[in-house]
Amino acid sequence: MSVRDLIILGCSSQQPTRHRNHGAYVVRWNDEGFLFDPGEGTQRQFILANLAPTTVTRIFVSHFHGDHCLGLGSFLMRLNLDKVTTPIHCYYPASGKRFFDRLRFGTIYHDRLNIIEHPVYEDGLVHDDGNFKIEAAFLDHGVDNVGWRVTEKSTRKFDPKLLIEAGVKGPMVSELQNKGVLEVEGKEVTLDEVSSIRPGDVLAVVIDTRVCPQAVELAKGARLLLSESTYLETEKELARKHHHMTALEAAEIAKKAGVKELVLTHFSARYLHVKDFEKEARQVFPNAHAASDLKVFPFPKNG
Ligand SMILES: [Zn+2]
Ligand SMILES: [Zn+2]
Repeated sequence: MSVRDLIILGCSSQQPTRHRNHGAYVVRWNDEGFLFDPGEGTQRQFILANLAPTTVTRIFVSHFHGDHCLGLGSFLMRLNLDKVTTPIHCYYPASGKRFFDRLRFGTIYHDRLNIIEHPVYEDGLVHDDGNFKIEAAFLDHGVDNVGWRVTEKSTRKFDPKLLIEAGVKGPMVSELQNKGVLEVEGKEVTLDEVSSIRPGDVLAVVIDTRVCPQAVELAKGARLLLSESTYLETEKELARKHHHMTALEAAEIAKKAGVKELVLTHFSARYLHVKDFEKEARQVFPNAHAASDLKVFPFPKNG
């Protein structure tokens, strides 16, 4: 089975600290490697995480504040150096096109990359290849800023006991899958009688926003929600002023959306201990975890 995990490359907000790099997050899922918000130093964080840059197939920039994109240029140069020729898809809010170009072509290099840009103009579907569906929604951050919802395709799961009872075995199983119905010893067996649909998992990324309905919508029923929580409730007013959230507010979104697991990130440099965010969030959502640099959160299938 392929790896399915979220790797935290950094979890600071605007200003990095001794222990927290600018944010950057890799999700390895089936054959894809999603990189979210490559902040400054992302290239080096890959080395520290023992992660090959070539893992990445799609890059998402939520918005063009520096802590979410300053590592984009150097990361793309690294892929160029590694002679990556497979397409790299890049998603970002359309109004930030000039920043994307500046970051991409900020220095001298012989560009051989196959970058496919997907500027996002409005809420809705940005990708669907049958394996993954990716949706975007603009959040409430004072500047154009996009949150993401990634949905894995649903799969059909056969029940071995029901297959035996129905007398379906060997190549008959794939025949039944293709045709939807099969005649076994004069009796009709339908696909739904011996199998069920396992809905694909959902991952949501909501970084840099105030509380907004779009955040809840993106996270609905998600297996994993990666959410910003820049402040604690003691600085709630600052959170509002700077278009951010507190850990408690992120937890309320997780609860409302019915997610399974919440990972908190994007911590302000004013706080020393990220455990305080976890503690605050757990008051309303027990399965909340604070990110820390290089921490890995696996989300196994059927987990
Ligand atoms: Zn930020
Ligand atoms: Zn921001």
